[in-house]
Amino acid sequence: MLNLYLAMLAIQAGFILPANLNAQVQSPETFVGFRVGEDRKLFGWQTVVDYFYILDSASEKITVQELGETTLGKPFLMAIISSPHNLLNLAKYKNLQKQAANPRHLAGDDMRLLAKEGKVVVMITLNIHSTEIASSQESIELAYRLVTDHSAGTKRILDNVIILLIPSMNPDGMQRVVDWYQQYLDTPSEGAPLPYLYHPYAGHDNNRDWFMMNLAETKLVSKQYYHEWFPEIVYDQHQMRSESARLFLPPYTDPVNPNLHPLLLAQMNKFGKHIVSELQAQEFRGIVTDAFYTAWWEGTSVMTPWWHNMMGILSEVASVQIATPLYFPKGSLQGGRRGLPEYRARMNFLDPWLGGWWRLRDIINYELAITFALLDLAAREKESIIYNFCKMNKDAVERGKTEPPFAYVVPTTQHDPVTAADMIDILMQGGVEVHLAEADFIADSYKFKKGSYVISLSQPFRPYVKDMLERQSYPDLHDSPAGPPIRPYDVTGWTLPLMMGVETVEIESPFDADLTRLQSLETPPGKLVNDGERGYLISHRTNRSFALINHLLNKDREVFWLRNEVEADGTILQPGAIYVPDNEIEPKEIEFLARKLSLEIVRTNRKLIGQPAYRINEFEVGLYQPFTANMEEGWTRFILEQFEFPYKTIYNAKIRNSSLDGDYDVIILPDMTAQEIIHGRKKDRPDMYSPKIPEPYEDGITKEGVQHLMEFVEKGGTLIALDSACDFAIEQFGLPAKNIVKEVPESDFFCPGSLLEILVDNSEPIAYGMPSNAAAMFVKSPAFQPIYWSQRTGVPAYYPDYNPLLSGWILGEDKIQGLAAVLDIPVKKGCVVLIGFRAQHRAQTPGTYKFLFNAIQLSAAEEVVLED
Ligand SMILES: [Zn+2]
Repeated sequence: MLNLYLAMLAIQAGFILPANLNAQVQSPETFVGFRVGEDRKLFGWQTVVDYFYILDSASEKITVQELGETTLGKPFLMAIISSPHNLLNLAKYKNLQKQAANPRHLAGDDMRLLAKEGKVVVMITLNIHSTEIASSQESIELAYRLVTDHSAGTKRILDNVIILLIPSMNPDGMQRVVDWYQQYLDTPSEGAPLPYLYHPYAGHDNNRDWFMMNLAETKLVSKQYYHEWFPEIVYDQHQMRSESARLFLPPYTDPVNPNLHPLLLAQMNKFGKHIVSELQAQEFRGIVTDAFYTAWWEGTSVMTPWWHNMMGILSEVASVQIATPLYFPKGSLQGGRRGLPEYRARMNFLDPWLGGWWRLRDIINYELAITFALLDLAAREKESIIYNFCKMNKDAVERGKTEPPFAYVVPTTQHDPVTAADMIDILMQGGVEVHLAEADFIADSYKFKKGSYVISLSQPFRPYVKDMLERQSYPDLHDSPAGPPIRPYDVTGWTLPLMMGVETVEIESPFDADLTRLQSLETPPGKLVNDGERGYLISHRTNRSFALINHLLNKDREVFWLRNEVEADGTILQPGAIYVPDNEIEPKEIEFLARKLSLEIVRTNRKLIGQPAYRINEFEVGLYQPFTANMEEGWTRFILEQFEFPYKTIYNAKIRNSSLDGDYDVIILPDMTAQEIIHGRKKDRPDMYSPKIPEPYEDGITKEGVQHLMEFVEKGGTLIALDSACDFAIEQFGLPAKNIVKEVPESDFFCPGSLLEILVDNSEPIAYGMPSNAAAMFVKSPAFQPIYWSQRTGVPAYYPDYNPLLSGWILGEDKIQGLAAVLDIPVKKGCVVLIGFRAQHRAQTPGTYKFLFNAIQLSAAEEVVLED
């Protein structure tokens, strides 16, 4: 049957069948040795890779590409699945997609023709969250079915759709989960949560990176989205908590982001409801829509494409314990979530599942059924989908010509020009068109210099440009007028220029300028200026200068920070200017570093003898890593590596069992609660129904550890507490500060992820190099009232006396007005630095990295007066 069919197809298509197609394609079951999704059975990433290459060599309907390497160096795969005819003509279809994504020169009829000629491109992304393991296993069965099923329905799909299938968005994490699960199989810990992050840096937050492009995997897939394939539809498979609906599908729930095209939302609603209807016909139960997941926030792999006029369909199936089945007795299923207050039938939840056994294979069955229903609709409505994609892109171009804002301009004068260039790079990876001004120009009565970046709003991905660069205004949502706020799904503000500390000007009226489209970005050139012989001076304003210092310390060179202002090549450098004595490094060597790091380094002739300074000595950093898989720990590690900070990871046992004397100069506690730090995952009551946490991963640092940390500080160490870890330090050490918002109910104060203005005292060493105001990411964070005492407490940053909201949502802002945001508290010979917001939030806030970096580099510093 197979051969006959293929032969007929080959004759129809007019090409000769290659010999290897006569071979039967090996099924997933024979390849892995068990039925995919069998209870307690998993295979790892290499099996997926091997099987995809088997399909590649056995079938003309699939071609497998290695897009690049994962964070840990594994192959990252994308399979292209379509009819043999389409695969032979991929270049043509890719070109049509490019035109659909940028139809500014196409008339309506051209767009109709393009829609007729083209194929709809559907990107299917699996297993971004590694513990949501089902889809990684499903991947091989899905591909097998698509290339071996000869039904009319599948033929229609392959004829009309080009499927881009990513079997795992995080192969490193998939392997970690499989290894962990297999290690504890048949023990009381079977199915227990991982004690470390599955994505090596981001854990679950690998799905919060999709506008910031920090991770290797994000970069690889975003390139396919916004530069290679421009899929009209992205479909992403997830799993959610176990005890509620079996499956979530769009429509998404309120609030809705005003920058999204209504046609996009209408189409996503249609897809969601269509799939529900198809699944219901096949007797899949327990499907909820219009619930849980909002249409507001960007940052995930399936949502960020919305602002590029691409449909993003999310499915969330109820989880098991990795691969261990769960039994749901009557009465154990619950609502209690947004859109599903009670577990009973309603218009968005037509047919509640009644309970019983729930298995890995059930999840796979739902996922396969959704995928085929989605592909079937995409195939049937190919032309309208492509046309609508063209139309939305064209609407965006036109709207940007007539409606403000008309552009965003990133001027040449920047506090940190390298970070400004990084922002442009990130936007370009996201498919944004950026222009460079070839001459000075005026817009909205601002004068801009030649070399400014101009981001026009008249471009196909206008919604994305606007959403990234404007200030968010989250709607004030409550269940009842006086009731508490409805929690947003994630953060409410993500304005890129604010997070990165990049000056960006919104232009409200049309303007003329001589612009050329930037094809690739060149980072600002670094250079060595002047030829003085008394040493080198570097401003403290550029984040990269910390990498320079780390590099020099690593080579045993002397580095100082000047405590007073100093003039260098005609500009005044604010306190904190970095000084390297002339005899420490050859001009050629430092010039090489200047170029590499895009820094301007001045070779000065100025006499600096007698200047007060900090000598920056080599330091030992200990970054605390709990066994609760803390994502902010991972992101902190990520930026430490990016800026060449040496560090060691400290685990609970080290803090619990030994004095920390002499091993570290500084210890960093990432954002986490005191309970989590002290007790880890240890429960105060026995519980026989959850997998047992393996013993070494259960407890936290314990009371002994708290004592060791205190002694570490008293003997001269620096403890840096980030965000909610500040409460731990305040309470356990009895620091002279109060977190004023700790006990305040959400109806009185609520700020769940917003950018707030902070005023910065940049004469404080912790704030060296900062501008005098900045945006802090406040995520249910503390705000401090320092208490006067016999020691000097430094206040490097504090909230203003007016509403500090810059982007997002805040309720009860008067509660934090005037309070401290960062405190530098001496404790005997050491100190505690409290950074009361997310200074390094998801590696998305370079505008506030300096608080953390300064506190680290100061940890072994000495106050000195410069000598000859
Ligand atoms: Zn997920």
